[in-house]
Amino acid sequence: MNIDFPLSQTLKTTKTHLAKLERMGISTIRDALEFFPRAIESTEISSDFRHIQLGVKQTVSGILTDVRKETTTRGKKIARAALTLNDGSVLDVIWFQIPYLLRNMRDESRVFLVGKIDRNYGKIQVSNPEIHLDRNVHIGALRAIYPESPPITSKWLREKITGLLVFVKEFSEILPHKILQSEKFMGKAEAIHTIHRPKDSESWYQARHRLGFEEIFSIQVRVMREKFLREKKTQNKYLVAMNTDQVKADIEKLPFELTTAQKKCLYQVLKDFEADKPMHRLMQGDVGSGKTIVAFLAGLHMARSRSQVAILAPTEILAKQHFANALKFFPSTMRVELLTGSVTAKNKQNIKNKLAHGDIQILIGTHALFTEDTVFKNLGLAVIDEQHRFGVQQRAILAQNNSHVLAMTATPIPRTLALTMYGDQDISVIDEMPAGRKSIITRVVHDEKASTLCYRFIDDQIEKGRQIFWVCPLIDESDKIEAKNVKHEFERINNELFPKRRVEFLHGKMKAKEKDAIMRRFRDHEFDILVSTSVIEVGVDIPNATVMVIENSERFGLSQLHQFRGRIGRNDMQSYCFLMVGKKDDAQKQRLRAMEKSNNGMYLAEVDLKLRGMGEIYGTRQSGLPDLKCADLTNLELLQKARDWAISILKEDVTLESYPALKREVERGEVYF
Ligand code: ADP
Ligand code: MG
Repeated sequence: MNIDFPLSQTLKTTKTHLAKLERMGISTIRDALEFFPRAIESTEISSDFRHIQLGVKQTVSGILTDVRKETTTRGKKIARAALTLNDGSVLDVIWFQIPYLLRNMRDESRVFLVGKIDRNYGKIQVSNPEIHLDRNVHIGALRAIYPESPPITSKWLREKITGLLVFVKEFSEILPHKILQSEKFMGKAEAIHTIHRPKDSESWYQARHRLGFEEIFSIQVRVMREKFLREKKTQNKYLVAMNTDQVKADIEKLPFELTTAQKKCLYQVLKDFEADKPMHRLMQGDVGSGKTIVAFLAGLHMARSRSQVAILAPTEILAKQHFANALKFFPSTMRVELLTGSVTAKNKQNIKNKLAHGDIQILIGTHALFTEDTVFKNLGLAVIDEQHRFGVQQRAILAQNNSHVLAMTATPIPRTLALTMYGDQDISVIDEMPAGRKSIITRVVHDEKASTLCYRFIDDQIEKGRQIFWVCPLIDESDKIEAKNVKHEFERINNELFPKRRVEFLHGKMKAKEKDAIMRRFRDHEFDILVSTSVIEVGVDIPNATVMVIENSERFGLSQLHQFRGRIGRNDMQSYCFLMVGKKDDAQKQRLRAMEKSNNGMYLAEVDLKLRGMGEIYGTRQSGLPDLKCADLTNLELLQKARDWAISILKEDVTLESYPALKREVERGEVYF
């Protein structure tokens, strides 16, 4: 057996547990050992009353007597008992759910209870404690607390992972010796062991710091190595000198004044066209900040120099929207084409032929653009809209031909995160909205009274001729449930809430044609309310929609919510966003309040990163970004240190031949750029 052995053949457990683990991304011994606890707590045992602290969770040991099972007036089954400590003092114990162990317990057994101890009507009471009959991995020292996901509990993980700790020595040390030495880091095996079973809290924090460093460090080496290698071998094949007068004239022709931020971004891109290396630039800007026009202007400049331009959108709907805009924007002498999944085979071939001959100057499309036989004659600039929605390989293909790559994202990426993940990209930020945009009024709606008012308000907006987006979250990643949930909500909204209004729905499983038809009809105001899942495209323009309702908003990260909200407020009418909260949860309500206060995507992303970690910023897996296991991305100092070391190691040996374990690790992972 080795560390990459599947858990299904290692652990004694149920199929349900294994299936859940699988979904948590844990299928081998390595995965389990790399599933790190989020915190630790002390379970040092007190057996005398004088050691007990009221109001906190702690571990007590004593003799359990007088166990009674009772039924409350509401019909709930509870259990009570008395616990006698070594000094003779007696505590009341109460369980609101009868623990399994109590069922056939003998009176006067010695037990260990872990729970909160408090004064209750003059008595000292332990409420709802965990119960243990022997000293075990859960009590007596520090214990690890894991992110839980029923039926996988901390208790379960602690037991299973403890059993796997013999394998820690199989982890190879990927940190170069000189880093370990100079940073005084513990070895990898010791760090993994310590993070699950710490001797003391100091060593737990050290283990975590060291593992976090390693995580960031290997990402940095991977990202920066790409850049080092790329810059060694590439030259700017598509050098275009900036023609200032021409650019000015292009800008003059626009129906609006560019913002200063847009001008600055455009300038940075055009500067890159003149540089000696191909551009790798990420343009960040809130939804509605006007990224497309910057890309178009840059594209126009490139196309004039007789090189081709590709613009990639993550969905068909968006690609079509770009196409329609491009037809208006680019001079009629330039040939603009659309290539998506629903173009007929014959037309596809036709487009590809023309592309190869250079008869098409601007190609707009979805990933259908990326099949092997899509050959450009001379692709000077590739624009990738919503870059995090694309697979890593797709982005890599574009970069292959020394084309300039301009990625765009509406997801604000806090500086620390950008440093880590996009270390080799230059970043432009559009931090200014076009003039005249009203900020969106946002309200958290968490009780029935507020909901009623909210529905009335919405009806009033419809009466005024406005339209409504209504978003429901994916309950599960499975498609069936997605569709069902949307339909269910649709029924409720259509039949119960707004019987007099025209309501339609949309979900990810519908055919592209159906989706397009619905979006078109919504744009043409053939109905009032569009109910959809969160997977439906965020970039679509429906200027007449002024209200966005988001069901179960507590399930989303703030950045995601901010993106949804960006679908409205696209004109000069006042727009409104209602965040419906599914369950009574004050912490969630508090978190969502940030949305009421701020319309600044970057600020919200930073709050998100602090509160919920990176996954939330991008809305889970589709991001193509790795899930960080323990690195704290708000720790700028750690990031900087990891980055400095990565650069120093690469400068010394970009091949990494002298660091074989690091090389293996780096080449195992994916490349981000
Ligand atoms: P995003 O950054 O979300 O991709 P878009 O590029 O789709 O935003 O722009 C949103 C809308 O704002 C479009 O209708 C676009 O024509 C318009 N727009 C872009 N720049 C400006 C500007 N400087 N002034 C006024 N409107 C603008
Ligand atoms: Mg956009």
